[in-house]
Amino acid sequence: MSTTERGAALVTGGGSGIGRAIALRLAEDGFATAVLDLNADAAESVAEEARKNGHEAIALGGVDVSDRDQVNAALDRAKRALGPVLVLVNNAGKTGFKEFLKITDESWDQIMAVNLSGPFYCCQAAIPDMIAAGWGRIVNISSSSAHSGQQYMTHYVASKSGLIGLTKSLALEFGPKGITVNTVPPGFVDTPMLRGSEQRGLLGNSVEDIAAVTPVRRAGRPEDIAAACSFLISEEAGYITGQIIGVNGGRNT
Ligand code: NAP
Repeated sequence: MSTTERGAALVTGGGSGIGRAIALRLAEDGFATAVLDLNADAAESVAEEARKNGHEAIALGGVDVSDRDQVNAALDRAKRALGPVLVLVNNAGKTGFKEFLKITDESWDQIMAVNLSGPFYCCQAAIPDMIAAGWGRIVNISSSSAHSGQQYMTHYVASKSGLIGLTKSLALEFGPKGITVNTVPPGFVDTPMLRGSEQRGLLGNSVEDIAAVTPVRRAGRPEDIAAACSFLISEEAGYITGQIIGVNGGRNT
C-alpha cells in the first residue's frame, strides 16, 4: 500500500514533546496527520509546522482523550478532513507523583482516565475503519517505569502497565485483520514533562546528571521515540505485533 492508500495518522498529545516529534515524523513519512491535543494552540502550531514542511496536517485541539464523546467527534473530524484513520499513536499521558498512601481516588481516576481509558476510547473509535481497510497500525506510548516500577508513581505505573496489557490483547484479537499493535515505553526523554519533574525536584538529580550515568550517556530525544514509531508503522514491520520496544538508552534491558 502507498502512504495515501494507508489513510491518515492520528497522534494524541501531539502538541508537545514526544507526540510532537511523532506527528512531524509521520507527516514526513507521507501520512496525512491529525494532531490531537488538549492544548489547542500547541496542536495548531504542530499542524502548522507540518504544513510549512509541505505536508497535509490538521489540528484537533482542545480534545480530551479521557472523554469518549470528544474522542469520537475528533475521529470523525479527522476522517472527514483526511480520510479514515488507519494509524493511531496513543501518546497523550498524565503523570503523577505521590506517596502511595496519599494517592486520592480522584488522582488515581484521572491518571487511569487519560493513560488507559483514553487509548481504550481511541482504539474503539479507530479500529472499525482499520478492519474495513484490512490494514492498520497502533502504537501505544507506555513507559519504562512499567518495566522497573517507580516509587511514588504507583498510579502512573499501574496505568502504563495496563496499556501494555491492552497492547498485547489487541495484537492477538486484530492480527488476523491486518492490524498490528505495539507499545513503545520511553525512558528519560527530554520533554516538557521531564523538565517539569526536574523543576519540581522529583528526579532526585538534574537531567544532565542522570544523562551522564545513562548507558548511552545522553537523555533521550523525542525524535528517538518518533523513529521507533515510524518503523513500527512501516510496511516492513508487519510481522511485529504485541511487542514492547523499549527506547531508553539502555536504562532498562
Ligand atoms: P508532554 O511534553 O507533557 O506532552 C504531553 C502532551 O499530551 C501535552 O501536550 C498535553 O497537553 C497532552 N495531553 C495531556 N493530557 C491530555 C488529554 N487528556 N487529552 C489530550 N491531550 C492530553 O509529555 P511527553 O514527555 O512528551 O510524554 C508523552 C508520553 O510519553 C506520555 O504518555 C508520557 O507518559 C510518556 N512517557 C514520557 C517519558 C519521558 O521521559 N518524557 C517517559 C516515559 C513515558 P497539556 O500540556 O495541555 O497537558
